[in-house]
Amino acid sequence: MIEKPAIKVHLRGARVPGFHMLVKPTGATCNLDCSYCFFLSKEMLYPGSRFRMADELLEKYVRQLLEAHSTPQVYLAWQGGEPTLMGLPFFERSIEYVEKYRKPGQTVLHTFQTNGTLIDDAWAAFFKKHDVLIGLSIDGPKAMHDAYRVDKGGQPTFDKVMRGLDALRRHGVEYNTLTTLHAANAEHPAEVYRFLRDECGTKWMQFIPIIERYTDETPEWTSWRDRPLYTQTGTNVTERSITPRQFGEFYIGVFEEWVRRDVGNVYVQLFDATLENWYGEGASLCVYKPTCGTSLAMEHNGDVYSCDHFVEPKHKLGNINETPLIDLVSSPRQRWFGDYKSSSLPKYCKECDVRFACHGGCPKDRFIQTPDGEPGLNYLCAGYKAFFHHVKPAMDEMVRLLKLGRAPAEVMQTYAASESRRAGLPKAFRM
Ligand code: SF4
Ligand code: SF4
Repeated sequence: MIEKPAIKVHLRGARVPGFHMLVKPTGATCNLDCSYCFFLSKEMLYPGSRFRMADELLEKYVRQLLEAHSTPQVYLAWQGGEPTLMGLPFFERSIEYVEKYRKPGQTVLHTFQTNGTLIDDAWAAFFKKHDVLIGLSIDGPKAMHDAYRVDKGGQPTFDKVMRGLDALRRHGVEYNTLTTLHAANAEHPAEVYRFLRDECGTKWMQFIPIIERYTDETPEWTSWRDRPLYTQTGTNVTERSITPRQFGEFYIGVFEEWVRRDVGNVYVQLFDATLENWYGEGASLCVYKPTCGTSLAMEHNGDVYSCDHFVEPKHKLGNINETPLIDLVSSPRQRWFGDYKSSSLPKYCKECDVRFACHGGCPKDRFIQTPDGEPGLNYLCAGYKAFFHHVKPAMDEMVRLLKLGRAPAEVMQTYAASESRRAGLPKAFRM
């Protein structure tokens, strides 16, 4: 019997059992004003707040987080808003608390999601010293990035982000890039991908589709300031949002570049998740799992929500000052939230040939009807189908290689051989 080989294409640290909490020490406060940011409006949940996590709460959180995990690895994940606004001493204290409460044998992985504009040598040295993995938000080359990622004065931010990235690179800090997909960059997959790979030097890429919903009662918004509080409601989408066709074509375009030269060297989150599902070991990423509910969010005051995308009053589980974190994470209400991803799947998804790879996507995007009128289909469905069908031959080949104990990267040789025999290209590889 062939032993199941470990898939070697995971994002660094993507596979951590237990749960994952995104913490927002400054709440929704940010020094930028990205026009598509759904999170800025969450300030309205906490009128009058200073939006700074108190030191006692920081200590309490770190202690509860470490106590709650029986697994050897724990994520301490900071996000925002913009977490650098808390200043370095806050995060230095977080490291001290980790050392104070870490159980024997427990490893803590520090991650930090940032817009990069405030990163300087002092921040970069801190990240390097404590092996913090950075998620840097950048939307592609200058014009694409600056289309929506502007500061409070409406000024472009690309140059500042690149300066921050430069500091990270000079200090040898590990980083991923997070690139949102929207009307300004979705038609340019190769350009975006090559920019991230060649100009930013990123080895780990995440692409996040911008899908901004609104209802007939709340007219299309031009910035978060136009909108009372963003919630996952409405079946209309703003003009900035990606279309399902663009979503599918963007990923196909990136895949075509990646599969020819970068497998095993550059990691694209959706490609990892797809290979995991194709191989049958289950995706690490919640969006492509049958159920979810283990990726939660915590606000600056200790309020815990079911998911970063559902920081809304009806999805608040409680506060760690009143209820231990572990009880909130394992509450029946949170289990219901996670199971809903599967229990709410429309029949159309249940009968879909790529359901094993898609699992209906994220519930936040399930707001269109199936062809026979059932509600709850994912807005991106057509894009998902196009992508998963397109990559099938390559995924089949990578799974075959893995089952033989070989590296999925060998798929690149198959492509090269096929293309050199262009006239006699095997049918499966005619894309
Ligand atoms: S709601 Fe979506 S983003 Fe949130 S945990 Fe579930 S699948 Fe993940
Ligand atoms: S591709 Fe479409 S029909 Fe198939 S599982 Fe995904 S959302 Fe459902």
